[in-house]
Amino acid sequence: MGIQQIEVYTAAMRYEEPFTIAAGTSTKTCNVIVRVLTDYEIYGWGEASPSKRVTGETTETVIEALDKICPKLIGKCPLRIESDVEIMDQVISGNPAAKAAIDIALHDVLGKTARKPLFRILGGYRTEVLTDITLGIKSPKEMAQNAKKALDKGFKALKIKVGVDVDEDVERIRLVREVAGNDIQLRVDANQGWTPKQAMEALNKISRYNIQLAEQPVPSEDIEGLKNVKKNSPVPIMADESVHTPADALRLVREGAVDMMNIKLMKCGGILKAKKIAAVAEAAGMPCMIGCMSESSIGIAAATHLAGAVKNIQYADLDSDILLKDKITTEGGVPLVNSVRKFTNGHGLGIETVDTEFLGKPLRIYK
Ligand SMILES: [Mg+2]
Repeated sequence: MGIQQIEVYTAAMRYEEPFTIAAGTSTKTCNVIVRVLTDYEIYGWGEASPSKRVTGETTETVIEALDKICPKLIGKCPLRIESDVEIMDQVISGNPAAKAAIDIALHDVLGKTARKPLFRILGGYRTEVLTDITLGIKSPKEMAQNAKKALDKGFKALKIKVGVDVDEDVERIRLVREVAGNDIQLRVDANQGWTPKQAMEALNKISRYNIQLAEQPVPSEDIEGLKNVKKNSPVPIMADESVHTPADALRLVREGAVDMMNIKLMKCGGILKAKKIAAVAEAAGMPCMIGCMSESSIGIAAATHLAGAVKNIQYADLDSDILLKDKITTEGGVPLVNSVRKFTNGHGLGIETVDTEFLGKPLRIYK
């Protein structure tokens, strides 16, 4: 089996409403979609959702990286994923979102070749994945209203964006817990927005609201700060922006800097590397979350299959496709039923129909 052709598309998608976190506001995302075709009439879909803030990538850098990577993969076996990823890493360092697009497409091919849903051949640990939905930063009152709307839709877990002002952040969480009652899981994410001192103050104040975990309270490079916050926080601390690669995960373990880690395909370079992070964390007794960064249904399907496969991925924040107004797929993926992503019997990622009109003509074709 060989890779015969790789098509690269761009897809600009608008958010349903402006989405704000401590680092800024987004109104749209411009992602890169790839289709890897093989000589077996099987093809795989992949997606890159670049974030300048998190990995330094943009739509342009992803296309530039793919310009270098794709020609080297033509003729290679799509099932030798470990070897294909090694080729990508030899061609260019970094550029994890660009590499994730190819890695995801190769895993889609793997599942379709085996004629099985991808999660089943990657480990098949669970058959459905509970996801939260994220409440972007707004006034505490507006966030409580949005929490109510999410609960009415059936969500059982909410991720609350904070990291602006400690008193206001505490109020956000107090009001959301009031609306949610006791049975809803609440997580918070400061996206590096607090200083260590602010984080300790905020976390000690919000712990009474039964908060499951707090993501990236302080800047990513402040490992000492993370350690200090972890030591003094009644709420478990999860690394997000501080962990990109398996080596980052090992460093955080060695430093004892966090209690948990958030894996994202766009930070680490795809499913293969994500599994390695989950393994490092598991060996250290740290549970993982799988998160997202503005992926559409293709990237979300890949992350959900990984979450289904791997025991140590115990939490999921896989909601970006539903926050986007524009949709790439019209059928398939891993549909959301209330708060749960339920796998279909579709092979690979389970993507059935892609809106080719929306996607338009490929920007590049390598063969
Ligand atoms: Mg986060």
